[in-house]
Parts: sequence; C-alpha cells; structure tokens
Amino acid sequence: LKRITVLSLLASWLAFSAAVPAHAETPAVPVRNIFQSLHAEVAWKDPVIEVRRGADLMVLRVGSDVATKNGTAIRLSEPIRMAKGAAVIATVDVYPLAHNWSGLQNASDRLRVSGRTHTIAKGDTLWGVAKRYGVAVADVREWNHLHDDALYVGEKLYVEEPYIPHTVAPGDTLWRISREHHTTVHAIKTTNRLESDNIYVGQTLRVPVPEPMKAQPRDIVEKPPKFEDALFPFVNGTYQQFGDTWGESRSFGGERSHEGVDIMAEAGVPMFSATDGTVVSYGWLPYGGWRLSVKADNATTLYYAHLAGYAPGIYKGARVKKGQLIGYCGATGYGPVGTTGKFDPHLHFGMYDTSGGAWKPFNPYPYLKWWEQR
Ligand SMILES: [Zn+2]
Repeated sequence: LKRITVLSLLASWLAFSAAVPAHAETPAVPVRNIFQSLHAEVAWKDPVIEVRRGADLMVLRVGSDVATKNGTAIRLSEPIRMAKGAAVIATVDVYPLAHNWSGLQNASDRLRVSGRTHTIAKGDTLWGVAKRYGVAVADVREWNHLHDDALYVGEKLYVEEPYIPHTVAPGDTLWRISREHHTTVHAIKTTNRLESDNIYVGQTLRVPVPEPMKAQPRDIVEKPPKFEDALFPFVNGTYQQFGDTWGESRSFGGERSHEGVDIMAEAGVPMFSATDGTVVSYGWLPYGGWRLSVKADNATTLYYAHLAGYAPGIYKGARVKKGQLIGYCGATGYGPVGTTGKFDPHLHFGMYDTSGGAWKPFNPYPYLKWWEQR
C-alpha cells in the first residue's frame, strides 16, 4: 500500500467512526476499508463481498453471519450489515477472519505446505539451524534468499522437510525407492510434486527422511506464566519482525528506560486487543500519543501507544474482547496533543503489574513472541 492510500483510508475511517453514534449498535467498521488496510483486495458483488489476500479467498454476504475462508465456514458474532451505504463488520469479527492468512508480503513470514519456520534465538548460526533440521546450509540460504550468513534474533527462517537425494537408476520404480528409504510412494510424490508415477532414469528425487530419523526442532519460545491464550496485536504479514527493545534508553522527556517493546508497522494498520479486558485509560499522553490501557486481569494492564486513531466502540470503561479491533497503528506522541511523525509508525506495547496500585512495568517480549507463533 502506498502511504497516500493508507492515509486516505485512515481519513475515511475517522470520518466514518465520527459519524456513527458511539454506543448505538455493536461497534462495526466498513468491510472494504478494514480488509484493504490488511493488504487484501476487496470486490463487491452485491450481496457478496469477496476478499482476497495472496492465495486466500474469503467470502462475506450482507445479511449473513457466516463467512467462508477458503471454503471453510466461519461464524461471525453478528451478520454483515449495511450502514450509510457501506457493508460493515463487527469489530470483534475481523481478527478471526484475517489472522493466519497465507500469501503474505513479508518473505520471512511465508508459510509453505511442506515446510516449517524456525525463529532465530540468541546464539543460533546458519550451520546450527541446518544441522538441527537435517538439511544443507546452502538450501537454507536458498530457501530464504539469504545473501550472507548474518542472522538476527527473532528472524524467521523457512526450513523444508529434510530429504535424501536419490538419482533414479534403470529399473527403479517409486514403489522400490519407497521400500529402500522406508517411506511411502505418496510421500515421495508429494515432496517432488509428481502428478503421476512416471519417473525417468537420471532424475533426482527428494526422498523424505523417515519420521524417527528427523531431528526434533526444540521449542525455543517458552510458554509465558500467564495469558498463554492471548493474541498477537497484529495479524501476520502486516508488521515487521521485532526484537526485544525492552530496557533500551529513550531520551524524550529526559533519559529513561524503554518500558515496552516496539513493533513497526505501516500507519493505519489495524491493531487488535491481545486479551479480554476493560479500557481503563484512553486519550492523549505526551509520551504515548493516542494511547489505550486495557486492564486484562486483577494484576495486569496492557498498554498500546502511538495510535493513529481508535476503533469504533473504544472509550474509557468499554469492555473489549480478545481479538477485537481497537485502533490503528500510528506515529503519535512525543509532544502536545496531535503531535505526529516524530518517529516511524509503530505500536509501543507495554505490560504493567497494577495489582499494588502503582504501575510496575515488566518485559512483554516473551509474551509477544509466544502469541506471535500461535
Ligand atoms: Zn516504545
């Protein structure tokens, strides 16, 4: 999306949300705007709305509370309805449709049918990753279009299933090869995308490694102590890889330590509530710009900052649901009301222990990494 498009979309949402009475109906947003801002194409074929992103197709129907995503039905909390000439969708219904879409823009977020992703942890090397998955370093480089061996923590590498190269000899059949390598004809055909059983002498086949021989990738993201079922605040493909920026120094308003983690995304990208909760603060802060604090349980408040704007239905005291659209990524803050553009657009996400009355920050990074992989 070009920046100008994002800004004009944003302007139209803000106009739209301002025009809709705050509490009249379930908060909703125009289908076209919200899915376009999630990098999808939207086609209106009255009464059907087709939403495409990459290889995925979603179909919504005005008046219906059932949508389909690649042919699978998804129940919405309320039907798609018309408001001011636009088809609108409840702000709680966007995330379930939009998350885990394939055909993503970020190369590092690609998900392929037979592959897995490995998230780089401190100390990982390309050689180590290749060894763990039983594949060649050169292959990992090629699959990920790596130009050098530099890796960064949090980077996602695509790793195909390990295989044994087999050159077809006279007399070979898929059946014979499958016996030799303790696998199945089906597995060989799938791995090599063969449409028939025909193979030719000299052909190199990738024979899948039998299950017991596969190295088990270790789970490098540990389950957090709580909120294990919470959601990542952006849908995949709409934000950039992020690192642990907790505790970094920040100088606006005097030297201080960064009380959160920054996730870069384009201005106008939709943001979703990580948890159920209650909006306990709302409005402008000199540091945070347009910010939102959501009390998630008796001891914890989540903080979302630098928003371009709020979603309909967000106000102080509002109950929000996990996955509900709460606002749009922006670059507000570091000055008086309305200050924007002092830094690149991003979500500043914080977590605070508010059990004792005071706000005691803790590092949200392990939580975000866990939610991201769900
Ligand atoms: Zn920040």
